[in-house]
Amino acid sequence: MNKEKVVLSQKDIPQAWYNVLPDLPEPLPPPLHPATGKPLTPADLAPLFPMSLIQQELSPKRWIDVPPEVLDVYKIWRPTPLHRAVHLEKAIKTNCRIYYKNESLSPAGSHKLNTAIAQAFFNKQEGVERLCTETGAGQWGSSLAFACHLMGLKCTIYMVKVSYHQKPYRKSLMHVWGAEVHPSPTNLTKAGQSILQKFPDSPGSLGIAISEAVEDAATHENAKYALGSVLNHVLLHQTVIGLETKKQLEMIGEKPDTLIGCVGGGSNFGGFVIPFVPEKLKGKDIRMVAVEPTSCPSFTKGLYTYDYGDTAKLSPLVKMYTLGHSFIPPGIHAGGLRYHGASPIISLLVKRGLAEAKAYPQNPVFEAGILFSKTEGFLPAPETSHAIKCAIDEAKKNDGKCIVFNYSGHGHFDLSAYDAYLDKKLEDFEYPAENVKEALRDLPTFD
Ligand SMILES: *Cc1c(COP(=O)(O)O)cnc(C)c1O
Repeated sequence: MNKEKVVLSQKDIPQAWYNVLPDLPEPLPPPLHPATGKPLTPADLAPLFPMSLIQQELSPKRWIDVPPEVLDVYKIWRPTPLHRAVHLEKAIKTNCRIYYKNESLSPAGSHKLNTAIAQAFFNKQEGVERLCTETGAGQWGSSLAFACHLMGLKCTIYMVKVSYHQKPYRKSLMHVWGAEVHPSPTNLTKAGQSILQKFPDSPGSLGIAISEAVEDAATHENAKYALGSVLNHVLLHQTVIGLETKKQLEMIGEKPDTLIGCVGGGSNFGGFVIPFVPEKLKGKDIRMVAVEPTSCPSFTKGLYTYDYGDTAKLSPLVKMYTLGHSFIPPGIHAGGLRYHGASPIISLLVKRGLAEAKAYPQNPVFEAGILFSKTEGFLPAPETSHAIKCAIDEAKKNDGKCIVFNYSGHGHFDLSAYDAYLDKKLEDFEYPAENVKEALRDLPTFD
């Protein structure tokens, strides 16, 4: 057995996703209706999602079968290898063992295709003709574009305006796969129009783009909405990452001490760590570390409370760590991970102390990404580099530990951000605590 690159065969692709909901230490607080504040019923969600995904969102079942049609597509790139970062270990002179699960090998270049393909499949099965979504840096938009193409669905994407202009090649990829892409805020939706009236030069945000996509889906026949992170069913589909990782570590006789992932909405981190949660609850000593940017510090500076998932308050209220739904990330931030909230499941794990959170500014993150690329060769997405930075820090601080991180995606479409770093044009930014207080003043109340 080659311990430097642990490879599974196609029969080892997980045949079922692991649903952590029945195993959580306490029930997840229910999602609430955005207008009434009452717990949501499946019927409330029906305008946005197909019934099969709504059932998965709330399911008490521990294992949910991966449909054969989805497995067939997973076979294009799954199972993904688990690498030992021997060259990085040498460079930082650690006696810890560092491993990374390589999710950058999907056609879209990140873990996001794991759920995109499942979501497109379940929508197609229920007769949906078009999916609407938002995208920030473009990894989710390109994944959904490819998934929709494979499943015979149309795809409309609202792309955060600042990224639309900063990352033109992701937009090209979405076009190659046949999607329609609009820089958000647009004039095509009421939500977009109202933002543009107040802020004609708005750079956009994920919260605004979600409002536009939700409105588009809710107001058109045979169109539904798809979200690339945050929701329970998204984390469910992503558990293929952690399930494979567990098997790979067992094959080489390793027990992980520390699991690390970056967090935007929490889907790659969740998919990676959730299959280890049952062992952790039984008392196994496994640390789970979620890494975020200091410019969008949902876990480290946000509040654990009910908030809207989008700016126009069209999406359900969920209990999560949030910076407030009106949060607009600073334009100077190049590192992704810019969503104001986070997955309710991961939020609960952090609140209960089962997972911990850490924040890093972007310059040390890019430095870590470049060191990784100069040693291991792969060029990481800036998002992924947050996990790399943390893994390096942990390896330097500890002795003989087994540290495993999720390599969520490659950085081949992020080269302008690398140029900016190399030209010393990136600024570090601490999101001010006052701004958090300000945005949280606008939290929902129901009388
Ligand atoms: C989208 C993305 C992330 C952040 O989203 P999560 O839902 O938190 O995983 C991280 N890394 C890559 C490469 C991404 O594409």
